[in-house]
Amino acid sequence: MKKEIFMMVGPSAIPDRVLKAMNKSVISHRSEEYSKIQERVTNYLKIIFGTKNDILPLTSSGTGGMEAALVNCFSLGEKIVVPIIGKFSEQFAYMAERFGLTVKRVYFEHGQTADVKTVMEFVEEDTAGILIVHNESSTGVFNDLQSFGKELKNRETLLITDSVSGLGGLEIKMDEWNIDVVITSSQKCLMSPPGLSFIALSDKAWKKVVSSNIPKYYFDLKRAREFENKSHQTPTTTAIYNMFAVAEALEMIKEEGVENLYNRYKSNSRRIIEEVKNLGLEILAENEQYASPSLTAIKVPGKAKEIVKKLSERGIIINSGLEPLEDDIFRVGTMGYVSENDVIAFLYHLKEIINT
Ligand SMILES: *Cc1c(COP(=O)(O)O)cnc(C)c1O
Repeated sequence: MKKEIFMMVGPSAIPDRVLKAMNKSVISHRSEEYSKIQERVTNYLKIIFGTKNDILPLTSSGTGGMEAALVNCFSLGEKIVVPIIGKFSEQFAYMAERFGLTVKRVYFEHGQTADVKTVMEFVEEDTAGILIVHNESSTGVFNDLQSFGKELKNRETLLITDSVSGLGGLEIKMDEWNIDVVITSSQKCLMSPPGLSFIALSDKAWKKVVSSNIPKYYFDLKRAREFENKSHQTPTTTAIYNMFAVAEALEMIKEEGVENLYNRYKSNSRRIIEEVKNLGLEILAENEQYASPSLTAIKVPGKAKEIVKKLSERGIIINSGLEPLEDDIFRVGTMGYVSENDVIAFLYHLKEIINT
C-alpha cells in the first residue's frame, strides 16, 4: 500500500484528528451545542484575522466569500481597481464586472508582487475599492497588504482582500493594517474540508453595506451578522460538519501556536526554495521577499505535467501550473498539515526525477 503525501495548493491535507471530529451524530444548527462551536470558531479566527470585527461563516467555497464581499460592499457602476498578479486576481476582477462594477485592471508580470505606487496611480477620489489577492496561488507570490492599507487609511476607498490561501499560514493583521474586508475559506491553510468560507468587515466597510444596491439574499451579510451576534448561528442551515472540522483544526493551530505555525510555513517553503535552486531550477517569484510561504511555484518550461505525474507515481501529490502556465511551472503546497518530513520526502523524489 502506498502512503500518499498531499502537498496540494488546496484542498490541502486533512489531519486525522480533523476527520475524526466529523465522525459524530448530527446536531441541530439551532442548538446550544452548535452555537458554542461557532462561537469558539469565530473567536479564535479573530486572533488569526487580527481583528475585533465579527467573523461571519458562509456555507460556500472561497469564491462565495468573494461574491459576498462584492454584493454587500458596492453598488452598481462603482469604480474598482484590481492589481492583477495571476489567475485568482483576474477571477476577482471578472467577478466584479459580472456584478456591474466598473473595473480597472492593473497588470503585473507573472511572478511579480503588486507595486503599491503603480496601483495607486489608478485610484481616484471616487474609487470605491481595491480588490487584492493576499496570496496569489497561481504564482506563489504574496502582496504587501500593509502598504496598501497605509495608502487607503484616510480615503473612502475600501481595501478588500482574498486571503483564501494566505490566512492561517501567512500573517495578516486586519485592524492594524487597515484592511476593510478579509475573506478566507476552510480548505487551504485551515486544513479542513472545502465547504465553509469566512469573512470579516471593518466599520468603514459596514457603512458601505447600508447603501449597497446590488441584489443579494443568500450572501446578505447584514443577516449573517444579526445571527452571529444574536446566537452564534447562521441565517440558513450551515455546513455543520465542516464547522466541527474547522473547530478541531483551530484547536490544533492553538496547540501549535500561531507564531510556530507561521515559522513552520516559512522554514518549509525556504527549504524548498533553497533546494530547488541547488537543483538548478528557478522559482517563479521574482523577488524572494514576496515568495509565498504557503506554496512555491517552480519553473520547468514544458515539463511540469510530466514532473507532477512522476511525483504522483511516487505518492507525492502536488499541482501543475494554471493556464497559461500549466506546463511551465509546478506548484507545491506547504499549506495546512505539511511537516518538515513531507518536505524532505518531496525534495528527495524531486531530485531523483530531475536527475534522471
Ligand atoms: C483557492 C483560491 C480561491 C478559490 O477558492 P474556492 O474555495 O475554490 O472557491 C480564491 N482565491 C485564492 C487565492 C485561492 O487560492
